[in-house]
Amino acid sequence: MSFLYRSTRNADETATASEAILKGLAENGGLFVPDEIPALDISFEDLAEMNYQEVAYEVMSRMFTDFTEEELKKCIEGAYDSKFDTELIAPVKYHHGAYILELFHGKTIAFKDMALSILPYLMTTAAKKNNMDKEIVILTATSGDTGKAALAGFADVPGTRIAVFYPKNGVSPIQEKQMVTEKGSNTFVAGITGNFDDAQTGVKKMFSDKELEKYLDEKGFRFSSANSINIGRLVPQMVYYVYSYTRLIKAGTVKAGDEINIVVHTGNFGNILAAYYASLMGLPVKKFICASNDNKVLYDFFTTGKYDRNRDFILTSSPSMDILISSNLERLIYRIAGNDAEKNSELMKSLAENGSYEITDEMKKNLFHFYGNFATMDEVSETIKKVYDEDGYVLDTHTAVAVKVFDKYKEETGDNTPAIIASTASPYKFARSVVEAIDSSLAAGDDFQLVDELEKISAVRIPAAVEEIRNAPVMHDTVCDKEEMESVVKKFLGI
Ligand SMILES: *Cc1c(COP(=O)(O)O)cnc(C)c1O
Repeated sequence: MSFLYRSTRNADETATASEAILKGLAENGGLFVPDEIPALDISFEDLAEMNYQEVAYEVMSRMFTDFTEEELKKCIEGAYDSKFDTELIAPVKYHHGAYILELFHGKTIAFKDMALSILPYLMTTAAKKNNMDKEIVILTATSGDTGKAALAGFADVPGTRIAVFYPKNGVSPIQEKQMVTEKGSNTFVAGITGNFDDAQTGVKKMFSDKELEKYLDEKGFRFSSANSINIGRLVPQMVYYVYSYTRLIKAGTVKAGDEINIVVHTGNFGNILAAYYASLMGLPVKKFICASNDNKVLYDFFTTGKYDRNRDFILTSSPSMDILISSNLERLIYRIAGNDAEKNSELMKSLAENGSYEITDEMKKNLFHFYGNFATMDEVSETIKKVYDEDGYVLDTHTAVAVKVFDKYKEETGDNTPAIIASTASPYKFARSVVEAIDSSLAAGDDFQLVDELEKISAVRIPAAVEEIRNAPVMHDTVCDKEEMESVVKKFLGI
């Protein structure tokens, strides 16, 4: 029997894995969630002997049950190949008392590559399986990293087009340059005069517009999503938590079955939710340590049970986490409500109408595995400097949020359980903030000069992803406001 996914907002709306990947989003803004997460019925000792691709197959085959073994293996082989600069795909390094899981060795040097290098394969396979004859139009809102990773994944993939919206003044110069220099002939990139939440809301609005859907259908197109609201993003992200745990077993650091803590700094709540899903599959996790930057909606939520986006949006040195509406939290809310679509819908309605909601005490009890805290911009700079001075290791501004919160957690609790910290970006993507933190006297000059400085101080070679864009011509210069998003998409599609 095919394992079913269900909407968080309507218990009657179900989909197979391939349908859920194709659709991206359920009706009425709901998200597809697995009815139950199957157990990983293979031993950790066996997994410890496998490489990344093999572990990926074991995890994904449990979740994508309507893909054949051949189909799934082909997707995995196509995705996790020499595009990554290490055969390990996601190496684990020990620094600052924790296991840093480096997720930035893909084509665009952010962790988004971990899922977006496989999503185009999953999606085109899903289209074939479902006899879908429309051209797939990927609509993406990005806080900086998803955009380029999705462009790189979908560029020139037959049967697909991709449109990316980013906050014009809300991404790093390197992030922006990565996107606007994209050459793929099926790609479109626009900056919007607003923040990430505006971009995300605009994209979600297009998804749920029935008239627009009908119009596109007549013209031979169908929207889908490359954001982490798509389970085709989340499931590949479960893999590296299982993989890193088994590397610790292999290294003799933990024994199979020993508990670990997982620390993830969070924006849209996708990466940490993937860790939580991996634990439901059998990964022994004691605490999920959720780290926020100054946009600390999630810290407040975990401490009070109230989610409240009514506050100022702060532009920080960790722009990929500058988010006030963490979409994937809905999947956790649905679960702690006992897979109750009605209760979840009620809360999400309150979020849409009032910008806030409050969970019940019963639901709050189900959050005991989660710990939330946050790091300010000053704390981020101090942490980057401290880890560099003590260890010679350079953190990016996002991972530094996680490291600081990990320190706070240990200080508060004295818990010394081995911890895996998800490291989500190469420091080269945020060269200015990183160099300023380490030695502000070196931070004069443009961003590419700072990239050269960073190479000197970090002794890590400049990644190809940065070298490539240094002199690349700008291919995309559209800037629009959020009301114009639909019309620029239509123009891009020539309809
Ligand atoms: C996207 C991103 C995050 C946030 O991840 P979520 O899955 O949205 O929580 C953190 N760091 C970097 C570098 C990112 O690109």
